[in-house]
Amino acid sequence: MTLVSGWGRFPVVDSEVLRPRSFEAVGAAVAVTGSVARGNGRAYGDAAIGAVRTIGMTTFDRVRWFDPATGRIRLEAGVLLSDLIDTFGPRGFLPFVVPGTRFVSVGGAIAADVHGKNHHGEGGFGRYVDSILLRTGAGETIEISREQNSDAFFATVGGMGLTGIILEATMRLRPVETGWIRERVISASDLDAAMRALEASESATYSVAWIDCVARGRDLGRSLIYLGEHVRADELTEDADRFPIGKNPHLAVPFDLPSMTLNRLSVRAFNELYYRMGARRAGGDHVVSLYPYFFPLDSISDWNRIYGRRGFLQHQCVIPERGARAVLADILDRVSKRGDASFLAVLKKLGHGDGLLSFPLPGYTLALDFPVKGDILNFLDEIDRLVVAAGGRLYLAKDARQSRATFEAGYPALSRFNAIRKSLDPASNIRSKLSQRLFDEV
Ligand SMILES: Cc1cc2nc3c(=O)[nH]c(=O)nc-3n(C[C@H](O)[C@H](O)[C@H](O)COP(=O)(O)OP(=O)(O)OC[C@H]3O[C@@H](n4cnc5c(N)ncnc54)[C@H](O)[C@@H]3O)c2cc1C
Repeated sequence: MTLVSGWGRFPVVDSEVLRPRSFEAVGAAVAVTGSVARGNGRAYGDAAIGAVRTIGMTTFDRVRWFDPATGRIRLEAGVLLSDLIDTFGPRGFLPFVVPGTRFVSVGGAIAADVHGKNHHGEGGFGRYVDSILLRTGAGETIEISREQNSDAFFATVGGMGLTGIILEATMRLRPVETGWIRERVISASDLDAAMRALEASESATYSVAWIDCVARGRDLGRSLIYLGEHVRADELTEDADRFPIGKNPHLAVPFDLPSMTLNRLSVRAFNELYYRMGARRAGGDHVVSLYPYFFPLDSISDWNRIYGRRGFLQHQCVIPERGARAVLADILDRVSKRGDASFLAVLKKLGHGDGLLSFPLPGYTLALDFPVKGDILNFLDEIDRLVVAAGGRLYLAKDARQSRATFEAGYPALSRFNAIRKSLDPASNIRSKLSQRLFDEV
């Protein structure tokens, strides 16, 4: 047995970790009760930890074929988006959807139906997946798509690995002329201004707001909004590199920082500085490499260690558009009064999700990080009640602690998902720590 955790390093639990080298070996591993696939371990909580056995999939990292005329690609599920970007970016293709880190696998991106800064207009990762080769818990290997085994397809996109092991996928890449983004920064003095700016930017391909979640009173919800568009080749100077090379992280957090490092004062000072520097850049357009635009946190490896040995929790909710303003203001007010949320607060507009358990719904998503300490679990239960009352839900890929009642209230297609899962895996071989907590019969 090995101690395993997600990116938030909470919870840390025992699970046997396997690294199969063939699809046959994956089949053997999944035929025993209590297994789930693990990609690159970037889900924050317990989604990628098997109840008994965790099946590591990053050894499956080959591209089967690529069609440069259409941008269609067939690849194994363990291919990382970072490799996909570095390899196909210079050839003029990028994934349509990227989350806030590029160090995620294709399997993990499908299983969480990850969203990027373009979800409001272009949907989630699953929208660009044409078909999936799935190994079910019943021992079958099936190809699933919108046309073939479509129930299994829509349960697998966003299904958190619970319908089977994704072995391969065929997907579409986005044609791009350069690896540069034209960024516009808007500074918003409070929550209303931030929401107005996001509304007014619906036609922007990419948009996201960073919120200062320790700002209070008149400044509550003050934000920097980052809009982005792909830069065309004719917008670059003759001598510019068409595709900047992504650097590996050049900074690292070498050990677990003491948990008091992040306190109200240090976060307030950081946020003040960050907001002022961002506000100074507001207004004009800047051309930036896609790497800092999409993945600002990737430049510091192991940044999750700044929260100390006990780890941290990310609370990511989505609130339906109607009534979102009042609920978001209430949440931010409670959070700013506590003062222990970190600087990483993100607000974004989302559109419809495609999978039965996809997280997005039309509305606003807010993501906040908290160190694991004191009464944080009770506090987050309080926030959950506001989310549920507003008809919202929490993101499973970030979750380590929501209650079954919160989960069931947020995902109306759950019983349909459960029926499809049962038909693919009658003996319930596939079980994660997350499924034991939220889905499985006890
Ligand atoms: C810094 C940071 C920023 C992030 N930003 C975003 C964001 O902007 N938007 C967003 O949507 N998410 C975001 N995430 C979350 C992340 O994109 C998802 O958790 C994603 O699923 C991680 O992929 P992974 O390969 O690490 O999968 P893991 O964390 O290993 O697994 C995640 C889920 O996928 C399943 N899975 C993995 N591989 C397979 C497979 N081959 N077959 C079946 N199931 C599989 C696992 O069982 C698990 O349920 C962020 C995470 C971090 C750390």
